[in-house]
Amino acid sequence: MPSPKSPDSPIPTVSFVSLGCSKNTVDSERMLGLLAQEGYAIVPDAQPADLVVVNTCGFIDAARRESIGVIEELLERKRAGQVKGVIVAGCLAERQREGLLEQFPEVDHVVGVFGREEIARVADRLIGGLKEQREVFRPAPVQAQDDRARLRITPRHLTYLKVSEGCDRACTFCAIPFMRGKHVTKPIEMVVAEAEELANDGVRELVLVAQDMTYYGLDLYGRPRLAELLRELDRVEGLDWIRILYCYPQYFTDELYESLAGSKKIVPYLDMPLQHINDRLLKRMNRRHTRAETEAIIGRLRETIPNLVLRTTFIVGFPGETEAEFDELVEFVEATRFERLGAFTYSLEPDTPAAKLTGHLPADVIESRRDRLMAAQQPIAFAFNQGMVGKTLDVMIDSPSTEGRNLWIGRTYADAPDVDGVVHLRGGPYYPGEIVPAEIVDTDGYDLIARASESEPPQSRKARPRPRKRPGPSSLVVLDDI
Ligand code: SF4
Repeated sequence: MPSPKSPDSPIPTVSFVSLGCSKNTVDSERMLGLLAQEGYAIVPDAQPADLVVVNTCGFIDAARRESIGVIEELLERKRAGQVKGVIVAGCLAERQREGLLEQFPEVDHVVGVFGREEIARVADRLIGGLKEQREVFRPAPVQAQDDRARLRITPRHLTYLKVSEGCDRACTFCAIPFMRGKHVTKPIEMVVAEAEELANDGVRELVLVAQDMTYYGLDLYGRPRLAELLRELDRVEGLDWIRILYCYPQYFTDELYESLAGSKKIVPYLDMPLQHINDRLLKRMNRRHTRAETEAIIGRLRETIPNLVLRTTFIVGFPGETEAEFDELVEFVEATRFERLGAFTYSLEPDTPAAKLTGHLPADVIESRRDRLMAAQQPIAFAFNQGMVGKTLDVMIDSPSTEGRNLWIGRTYADAPDVDGVVHLRGGPYYPGEIVPAEIVDTDGYDLIARASESEPPQSRKARPRPRKRPGPSSLVVLDDI
């Protein structure tokens, strides 16, 4: 049999399914980049392919069930002869290890989170006819991995950049450190080089992600250095918006408040997952912040950053959460008026300390608390949107709308991609990645309705977008339908 790389061989094809969070998206893009560099043709996942890779999520029960459902579908396609080999990668692979091969003996290879750099070697073995089932698990690296040379699956103008990997906290409900290892900071110069590469490739909005954003620098430099990183990124040519996600409510230094307030490109939007607000429950969760400390951070953020949009997430139904403690959370949400909020129902993760706590609550109680919390939040979010009506804001165009000509889907600074609402904008023609001033004329639930504003200067941003040429073809292939 000719080698998969010999000129006589047909080009091997691979399709890819990326599940889970934005950090997993970066890993998927890196694996796709490695496969493309090694000569694999990437095909949409519904098409026949030599191989299919699924990058799984193992975060909570619902995510695991989704990953398992996809693995079952892919094995069905293998039985039907539509794909020859199935590779399972990512967090679920890492978390279940050998158990996954026992559960799915027809899976060809399992590649753990830190085996991602070996994905092309694994694919080559499979294409080359080495069929024995194999696993690639590697220890978490002590230095940051290079995430450059990615083949991006997000729209060209928008991307995620991991500034660190892993987490040094030990929140009792969370299995992420088991899968992603200890916190490893990506050095400032490496993050900046990656941001420059992405900007050169047409990225206009850079979304910074980490498990614990404010911890950035502590392991590598002995002190938090997020503020300095942000100042450096603020200078990267070509970027218009920088958005920061997943800030643990600790290490908000004076310097960080200054960087957030004084930057040109960092949008006034912060995602700060709080998990709960009751001090007894925060302790049971092994969170290292109290209600008073959290309120002080929020107060100073609101004072320092005009028009700040705060997003948070809470866990409801944590073991031992009393009705009174849940009521305290609802009252806190009503008083604090987060512009964006998500609620997770507590998910029992067998290998975590919280699994052994007393006071696990019935599923119906947990679900009804989630519904009550979201019902309390909804009028706050709708009122915030209503307050936007009549304003002229910059809108980042994401795509044409499928609902008609000269209709566009975009977002203001107040909406992070995928998790928040969108703007339905009439005007144009535009192109994705263009920032246009738009007058907000109405709301539609969590979304906004807008029309192009020719006259008014934008209010929401600290810097005007520079006039740009329309982007040319990307140096990286964008596979929207993977
Ligand atoms: S800070 Fe976040 S990632 Fe780290 S252990 Fe806590 S919940 Fe998990």
